[in-house]
Amino acid sequence: MTTHLYTHDIFAEHKTPAGHPERPDRIRVVADALGHEDFRDLVRFETTMADEAVFETAHSASYVEGLRAQIPDEGIARIDPDTVMSPKSWECVRHAVGGGLAAVEAVMSGKADNAFLAARPPGHHAEQVTAMGFCFINTAAVMARHAQLHHGAERVAIVDFDVHHGNGTQDIFERDKSVFYASTHQMPLFPGTGAKGEEGVGNICNAPLQPGAGTEDFRDAFRSRVLPALNAFAPDLIIISAGFDAHARDPLANVNLSAHDFDWVTAELMSSAERHCSNRVVALLEGGYDLQGLAESCAAHVKRLMNG
Ligand SMILES: [Zn+2]
Repeated sequence: MTTHLYTHDIFAEHKTPAGHPERPDRIRVVADALGHEDFRDLVRFETTMADEAVFETAHSASYVEGLRAQIPDEGIARIDPDTVMSPKSWECVRHAVGGGLAAVEAVMSGKADNAFLAARPPGHHAEQVTAMGFCFINTAAVMARHAQLHHGAERVAIVDFDVHHGNGTQDIFERDKSVFYASTHQMPLFPGTGAKGEEGVGNICNAPLQPGAGTEDFRDAFRSRVLPALNAFAPDLIIISAGFDAHARDPLANVNLSAHDFDWVTAELMSSAERHCSNRVVALLEGGYDLQGLAESCAAHVKRLMNG
């Protein structure tokens, strides 16, 4: 497989207060892990900033304008108790989306089989008009829209194995049959959405996991629920909201996965992509708050993307 990596040093410049789990060290340990010689065949690109206009494919113009108005000149601006902006946060958001669009272009044009975007802040909790859960702009949603508007993808699937439900992605697409959204997540847990009965217009597939769930529960959720629905949808592109906070070491949740499980799920999603869409997969980093668990899991995920 030809795998592209999109990232940038600027992603360490989105600052959060001391003790905040979504911290610059997250991107540093991912960069270190992917700097290992095992990853020498990755084709590496620096992200560039997206035009803010593309944010309006997933969010309202007034929401985007309102967020921009809150960027502080110095220090930290609290959007809510968990979700904060520092002076460079908006540049980081624009770089994250810019990298996501470049990754979509590379995969849709056939320059890459698949791609990974290592960026922060994450995006899957950002709803059409609400920032929350460390997220401002829903990068995966803007990527899906870009694939549809500019690269001929009619049907885009977003599969989210972050331990939290991607309420933002569901909010943006729950009335749009052209986008399929599937999520495994611990329930109950923040943000509280993601029950099985939330099905959108038949395009949403939620597979909640109980606190304490482990490898077999996770794999069962994919085998019995997510993968059959994904294959029935027959996507033209699979976007993976790759959060690694379902790792056993993660401090924000109580699901007990290991790096092997992230390797397994990546392989399963790749075989669906091989069947339906010429291997086209674009993955992006969402959560993952234990530095060791994040680094190991992200490395296993990207290694699988490269090795097929
Ligand atoms: Zn998460």
